[in-house]
Amino acid sequence: ADYVVEVKDLYLNFYTQVGVVRALNGVSFSIPRGKVLGIVGESGCGKSQTGLSILQLVPPPGRIEKGQILFKRNPDDEPIDILKLGRNSDEMRNIRGDDISMIFQEPMTSLNPVYTIGDQIMEAILLHQTPDKKEARRRAVDILRRVGMPNPERIADSYPHELSGGMRQRAMIALALSCTPVLLIADEPTTALDVTTEAVILDLMRELQAEIGTSIMFVTHNMGVVAQMCDEVAVMYLGRVVERAPVDDIFYNPKHPYTIALLRSIPRIGQKKRKRLEVIKGSVPDPYSTVTGCPFHPRCPNFMPGLCDKVLPAETPVNGDTKHTVRCHLYPGSVEVPSQASTHGG
Ligand code: SF4
Ligand code: MG
Repeated sequence: ADYVVEVKDLYLNFYTQVGVVRALNGVSFSIPRGKVLGIVGESGCGKSQTGLSILQLVPPPGRIEKGQILFKRNPDDEPIDILKLGRNSDEMRNIRGDDISMIFQEPMTSLNPVYTIGDQIMEAILLHQTPDKKEARRRAVDILRRVGMPNPERIADSYPHELSGGMRQRAMIALALSCTPVLLIADEPTTALDVTTEAVILDLMRELQAEIGTSIMFVTHNMGVVAQMCDEVAVMYLGRVVERAPVDDIFYNPKHPYTIALLRSIPRIGQKKRKRLEVIKGSVPDPYSTVTGCPFHPRCPNFMPGLCDKVLPAETPVNGDTKHTVRCHLYPGSVEVPSQASTHGG
């Protein structure tokens, strides 16, 4: 299947004063072209760091230790390994400005407070699409209209602080889409909004996605949002993908105990705040500690002593279906064959 980005066996560490945080421990997944891939998990599971890695924007003291991030602008291109490009190289800057955009929970991260919304969108259009200022202005206003701004001419002349949270989020989406990116990385872009605005913005993103054909990597902790937005889902836990499947399989045929727990935490309609994962005991372990065996074993209701705390489960196709994979010893084929010969006692 064709992909825009394929992440292969990615390891990312943060070297802090108090120890090493292993943020990503062999993350692998691909983002299918023209589709929406949801990356879900609790905070601290590495979702955001994965998105930042793709753009080489991981802040210090983070360091990518190992892995590949392959990017294909067009289906027939030779893949480019993003990690082989210099962080500040021209090619990396081009990818950031032209091909892959990122939007965040807090729109002020992307919007510049000292320029009007219209000027910021025009700047992107002038850089990437047309040198004609009048035409750029026309396109900027058009994008603002398409993201549902009631009075796009007036919004174009407004500064970010003059807009409400929902309007700012729309402006940020307009700005991100103004370069018609191949891939949009959306990191919890609606989490700070009220439910009604959130629903409107998600609909809008889905519409624009279908229209432009942009691929989206949608980072969220909210399974309700996943149901509304995504074609495929990768569930992350402690820096690894533990289950990967088309969205229907995640909801109707979930396999990993962690996925099942996440599904139980979906808020009911009209209830914005997610319940904690009270169905599972414990919380995400201390980031400085290392867990042996399956990273979920201290919280898992299906924990099998002697296996789950000793052996890391390998990624295994569910019933031979390579579109649905899981890392859990409850499913056959999950015991990773050690690369070196080893003798087990007993
Ligand atoms: Fe639970 Fe064991 Fe599966 Fe890990 S491998 S999720 S501890 S059953
Ligand atoms: Mg995050």
